[in-house]
Order: sequence, then structure tokens, then C-alpha cells
Amino acid sequence: MSTSTNKQHVVVVGGGFGGTKAALMLAAHDDIHVTLVSNHTHFRYYPGLYHTATGGTRAGARIRLDNILANSGVHLVRATATKLDREHTQLITDDGKKMDFDQLVLALGNVTNYFGIPGLQEHAYGIKSTEEAERFKIHLHQQLLETGAPDLNYVIVGGGPTGIELAGALPAYLRHIIKKHGLPQRRLHITLVEGAARLLPRAPEDISQAITKRLRSLGIKLLLGVTVQGATADELMAGDMTLKSHTIVWTAGVANNPFFKENDFKLSDRGKVEVDEYLQAEPGIFVLGDNANTPYSGLAQTALYDGEFVAEHIIRLAEGKTSAPYKPKQPISVIPVGKGWASVEWGRHHFSGFIGWILRSLADLIGFHDLETWPNAGEQWLESMEEETLKCPHCGIPSGKKNTAQN
Ligand SMILES: Cc1cc2nc3c(=O)[nH]c(=O)nc-3n(C[C@H](O)[C@H](O)[C@H](O)COP(=O)(O)OP(=O)(O)OC[C@H]3O[C@@H](n4cnc5c(N)ncnc54)[C@H](O)[C@@H]3O)c2cc1C
Repeated sequence: MSTSTNKQHVVVVGGGFGGTKAALMLAAHDDIHVTLVSNHTHFRYYPGLYHTATGGTRAGARIRLDNILANSGVHLVRATATKLDREHTQLITDDGKKMDFDQLVLALGNVTNYFGIPGLQEHAYGIKSTEEAERFKIHLHQQLLETGAPDLNYVIVGGGPTGIELAGALPAYLRHIIKKHGLPQRRLHITLVEGAARLLPRAPEDISQAITKRLRSLGIKLLLGVTVQGATADELMAGDMTLKSHTIVWTAGVANNPFFKENDFKLSDRGKVEVDEYLQAEPGIFVLGDNANTPYSGLAQTALYDGEFVAEHIIRLAEGKTSAPYKPKQPISVIPVGKGWASVEWGRHHFSGFIGWILRSLADLIGFHDLETWPNAGEQWLESMEEETLKCPHCGIPSGKKNTAQN
């Protein structure tokens, strides 16, 4: 159903990597009107969250969507999509509004999955949003101030990129705040728990080995091949061990957004949406990024690539042209582990060290530029490298520049 202006109406759901990219590209076409439905006011730059959780600014991990979309022609609607009415080609949102569409693009991202493990949801911290990262950071300060010493153990569950990045950055941040609080430096106990026999089980073995060595050199204890059974406020039960800790971070599980199951999409064994060679789940309904069952789903670069592919395909359809089918593209993987070091998997080339760190920094700049103009991306990039300057809510550690952004 077309809008009264005879433009095609494309509704994009999800203001993340894939959805925002698709919306911006589609809106640049004269014959297409785009509505972007997002349940957040900000775009979340997930790769920056480990840094926000360990002293970096919130600004480095989020950008206001209305800034990204300024002058783009995209109509932004703040709502949660709840239901798909296939018969009337309408999307229904949590406020009961119904939106007609000609084409629908769904890029809703993943949600945290605790696999029903008792106590985790209540007692574990996460770093999947700036709010979660802030909550974790406040806890680190609070725990230090209440006891005058570091926690008995800081336990991170999940040997994927998020857990590794957080574990790598944590020792330096803890030492920094211990010093700032005027407390004596003590030996830190930081443990990374992974259920598989090695870190990054899907990555090449040499990458996994280099990261293992690096984490051990930073003093991180690795528990590999150990699965978590449960958590309480004071401990984590993993394998046949009980780890005393008030600081458990869960980074080990994600599941596809429940929207797809609730709306009867065809799902793969992994719970991802089955799509055809144009990333189409059904005629006129495209699914991309983390939600789609594609080989490299689960990475920001894939979501951007998918967003671009779907936008180009819809534009070509609007122009009465055909397009080439989707070709999965292996992203470059760069995982920072502590300051000045990152591992890189670039096709067949694998390397690590300071050069990897520089590459990651440049990748962030390019990542911001994927959605913003060069001047704005540059500003965002510089800001992302700043340290957190907000006052510690408990001790009033000097703050400096105040970040007033709200979500
Ligand atoms: C902590 C962390 C670190 C990461 N680091 C890296 C990295 O270094 N490199 C890398 O390549 N990848 C990384 N990733 C993965 C990467 O962020 C994702 O693959 C990418 O965000 C997927 O993009 P997407 O568009 O599919 O979904 P998202 O970017 O998650 O966007 C989905 C958006 O949809 C919104 N939404 C959800 N449901 C609804 C609804 N019903 N209605 C309206 N809006 C909705 C969400 O709030 C969100 O804004 C990381 C992920 C995490 C959690």
C-alpha cells in the first residue's frame, strides 16, 4: 500500500547498525518514504561498551538517533514493534498504533539469554547497554568503598569478544580507581569462565592462543571447559567449583529477539530467521543483521553490510530493476585486550599487538562514519577515547567534563 504521495512506504524496525544504515540509504531515494521505528532514543555503539564499563565515556558508546537522522528525511517513531498483521500489511506497536507498509525491514538485534540458569538474571551484571555498563561501574566503586578492598574475585562469564574485551580492560581500571580512592593496592583476582575448551571457539586456534597468552599476562585466570550452574549474591557455581564473588558479569548468552517467535517467522536451529537470497523472510519482509540466519550474523559489520544490501535491493525494485543475490562477506575481526594490544583476523592474515590496537581504533572511526558525516564521526571518535569524567556517585572522585546525555 503506497502513501498518498505515491511514494513507497518502507518501515524499518530497529535503530541499530543494520536498521539505521538501511533507513539512511533508502531515504536518499526520491520515491521512497522511510519510517524508522526504534525503542530507544539512541543508537548503541556496542563495540564501545566494554570501554564505557571500564572508565570510558558513555558518549563513546551511543549517539542520538535524531542527530544521525537529521536532514535525512527519515521519519523517526519511538515505539516498540509488537505485532505483524500480515493480512493487512501492517506493523503494530506497543502503543496500539498501526503502520501500513509496502516493504518491512526488521533489524531488532539480539537479547540477553540466561538459559534459565538460576540466580543469574538477579545477580549478574551485563554490559549490553550504556545503562548496564554504568550500573556495573557504579558497583565497582561501591564495593571498593564499602569494604575498603577489591572484591574476592571479579568473575566474567563468556570467552567471546565481549568477555575477553572486558577482562582485558578490567585490571587497569580497578587499579586506577583503587588509587583514586586512596586505598592500598592489593592483588586482584579476575576470572574468565568459558564453557568451551578454548576462548573464541569459532575463531582460528592461533587467535584463540594469542588472546589466551595475553589475558594470562594481564593476570586473568582462565577457567576453560567449565559451565555455570547458578549464582547467588555471594558466589557463582561453575563446574565443581564455587567462586566467592559479588561481581559476576554475564556475557555468555544471546538469543534472537522474541518478536520473531511471537510472530511465527520460520526459524533455524539457532533461532535465527530463515531468509532467501535477498534476505527476505517472506515477500516484502526483509530480516537482517543479528536476526538473520546468515554465515556471519552476530557482528556489527555484517549488520551494516546487510542494511546496505537490503536498501540497494529495495531501491532497485522501486526502479523496476533486478539485483544480484546476497553474498555473505567475512568481516575483519579485531579484539582489543587491554590497552595497546588487539588481535586481528583479516581473512587468512592473523596478527596481534600494537598494530592491531591502531587498526581497531581506525575501525571505530570508520564505524562511526558508516552512520555519520566525517566531522561528526571524527568528533564522536575523539570523544570515545576520553576517560569517564562523571563524578563517582559514592566518593565524588573529581569529575571534569560532565556528560549530560540522557537515554
Ligand atoms: C557488548 C557488545 C560488544 C560488541 N562488540 C562488537 C565488536 O567489537 N565488533 C562487532 O562486529 N560486533 C560487536 N558486537 C555485535 C554487534 O553489536 C551486533 O552484531 C550488531 O549490533 C547487530 O546489529 P543489528 O542492527 O542486527 O542489531 P542492533 O545493533 O542490536 O540494533 C537493534 C535495535 O533494535 C531495537 N529494537 C529491538 N526490538 C525492538 C522492537 N520490538 N521495536 C523497536 N526497536 C527494537 C534495539 O533496541 C536496538 O536499538 C558486540 C555486541 C555487544 C553486545
